[in-house]
Amino acid sequence: MDVVCMGELLVDMFPAEVGRRLVEVSSFRPKPGGAPANVAVALARLGRKSAFLGKVGDDLFGHHLAGVLAEAGVDTRGMRYDDYARTTMAFIASLDANNAEYLFYRNPGADTRLQPGELDRGLLKRTKVLHFGSLSLVEDPIRSALLEAVRIVREAGGRISLDVNYRPSLWRSPDDAYSAVWEILPQVDLLKVNEVELALLTGEDDPESGSERLTQQGPMICVLTSGAGGSFFRIAGGFGFIPAFNVDAIDATGCGDAFIAGLLSRLLISDDWRSHFSPEQFRQHLQYANAVGALTATKQGVIPALPVAEDVADFLLQQPEWRDEYG
Ligand code: ADP
Repeated sequence: MDVVCMGELLVDMFPAEVGRRLVEVSSFRPKPGGAPANVAVALARLGRKSAFLGKVGDDLFGHHLAGVLAEAGVDTRGMRYDDYARTTMAFIASLDANNAEYLFYRNPGADTRLQPGELDRGLLKRTKVLHFGSLSLVEDPIRSALLEAVRIVREAGGRISLDVNYRPSLWRSPDDAYSAVWEILPQVDLLKVNEVELALLTGEDDPESGSERLTQQGPMICVLTSGAGGSFFRIAGGFGFIPAFNVDAIDATGCGDAFIAGLLSRLLISDDWRSHFSPEQFRQHLQYANAVGALTATKQGVIPALPVAEDVADFLLQQPEWRDEYG
C-alpha cells in the first residue's frame, strides 16, 4: 500500500450559493467529504494505491460513502461501521471562492468512535505512508487509535504525513489544538500547514522563520499553502516559494487535500524521501502539487473536481515555464 489515510469520512452539506453565511444559505446538497478521505481519492486518481481507515455510521450515508470510496479505487477494508453514532456531517457556507464557514454535527459523530482495537494492523504495517489531520486528535477514542496507528507505521519503517487542517469550532480552545499538534510533531515526517496554522503553532506570520521552528520540532519536510497565493516548502537543504497557477477558481474546497495528494504522489517516486532533498527537485514537486490544487479549484465540490494524472500532465504542459524546464 502506498498511503493509508486515516480519520474522517463524512457528509459535506454544500451550499446552493456562494457569498452567503451559513444561516443565509437557501439549501444544502450532501456530498462525500472529510479531508483524509479526499486525500485517499485524490491519490487513487493520481494512480497511487491508497486506503481509507476510519469509521462511519451503520446508516445509509455511511454505506453510501464507503461505496463512493470503493468506486474511486480506494481500499476500504480498514473501514468500520458504528451502530451507535450517525455518520458525521459538516454544513458549509462558501463566503467567497477562498473562504468557508463550517458547522460540524459531531457530538459525537461516528468518525470519532474508532477504537484502537478496531485498527487493521496488517494494513498499517504494510503501508509506505500514513496520512491524517488534526480532527483525529480532538477527542478519544479516535485520538488513541490514531496514536496507535502512528506507532505501528513508524515501527514498520513507514512515513507519517500530517495536514493540520485546523477547525477552531471543534476544539475547546486554540491552546488545546496547539498542544495536541505540537506533541505529535516529533513523529511526523511531512507537515502541511496554512497561514492560520503557522501562526497557531509558532506565533509567526513569516514562512521562513515559522517553518524553521516547525522542522526543529521533528518534520523533515514542512509545506505551507496559501490558496491563490501559492505554496512554500522547507527541507534540510533549503526553502522556497512557488507561486500558484492562474486559474478561474470556482470553489477552493479540498484544494489543500488535492495539493498534499499531489505532493505525496511525487514523494512516493522514491522510498527514500531524503533522496528528493534538493531545493530544485522540491520546487518541481510543489509545482506539481500546486497544479493538482489549482485544477481542483476550477470545479464545484471536492471528489468530482479531483484531477487524474493525465489532467495534471496536460495542464502542466500548457504552462510555458513547466514545458521549458521539464517538458
Ligand atoms: P487548504 O485547503 O489546506 O487551505 P489551499 O487553499 O491553500 O489549501 O490550497 C492548496 C494549494 O492549491 C495552494 O497552495 C495552491 O497551489 C492551490 N490553489 C488553491 N486555491 C487556488 C486558486 N484559487 N487558484 C490557484 N491555485 C489554488
